[in-house]
Amino acid sequence: NGFAVLGLAPELLAAVADLGFTQPTTVQTQCIGLAMAQEHVDGQAYNDLMVSSQTGSGKTAAFLLPVLHTLLAQQAAAEAAEKKAYDDAIARGETPPKRVRKNPLNPRTFKAATPGALVLCPTRELAQQVCSDAIDLVKHCKGLRIANVVGGMPYQMQIARLQNADLVVATPGRLLDLQRSGQIKLDKVQFLVVDEADRMLDLGFAEDLEAVHQMTAARHQTMMFSATFAPRIQQLAQRVMRQPQRVQV
Ligand code: AMP
Repeated sequence: NGFAVLGLAPELLAAVADLGFTQPTTVQTQCIGLAMAQEHVDGQAYNDLMVSSQTGSGKTAAFLLPVLHTLLAQQAAAEAAEKKAYDDAIARGETPPKRVRKNPLNPRTFKAATPGALVLCPTRELAQQVCSDAIDLVKHCKGLRIANVVGGMPYQMQIARLQNADLVVATPGRLLDLQRSGQIKLDKVQFLVVDEADRMLDLGFAEDLEAVHQMTAARHQTMMFSATFAPRIQQLAQRVMRQPQRVQV
């Protein structure tokens, strides 16, 4: 399988094989390679990418795979640390720390969702498609959760799913509604993907995008996808990214 050389986790390679993908598309080869490389600028890892690609190029998996790969690695590290703390406590003859699970229906244990990755889409239809692709790709990743945040869906249902989400796929308007009402916090977002940035601007989401960008201060990677590189897209890119590498396919 041509995806194996890209260094992706076995769980993701299995999902890609299930989907019948045998060779990565051009945009996938380029984005996955660049997104997972550690480029250091000012002592920080910046891997911002500005990608021109059309629908049908395989762009969705091109941004989902490297993001999911990193979330998976972080989760494995967190689990190993938790297990070690547990084993150490037992070895010292102490009562091991208890794991507290969030119950979305219990107002006393309610905590805002704090996803590590966020994909912004201009329309509800696109967000639902990206979400469904992400669900296919995490099929073999037991702990990764995906949530969809779009207008026109029952609020309660979205909030329940959102609670433990690692990756959120959203349209900007509904996302900001949930942020304002305290259901979601964006300060843990490390990966921000802006899909179809040109349509995002056409639909008047420039301000919302800026607002989200401000709230995701901890992120170390932004990927922006657009069919065109018109000057207004470049201006947006300059505001929300740091020294992005350009990928043109
Ligand atoms: P996208 O450009 O992300 O909308 O993807 C277009 C279509 O190509 C989707 O139906 C994907 O399932 C499919 N696809 C994505 N990557 C590959 C691949 N490497 N091999 C075959 N099909 C793919």
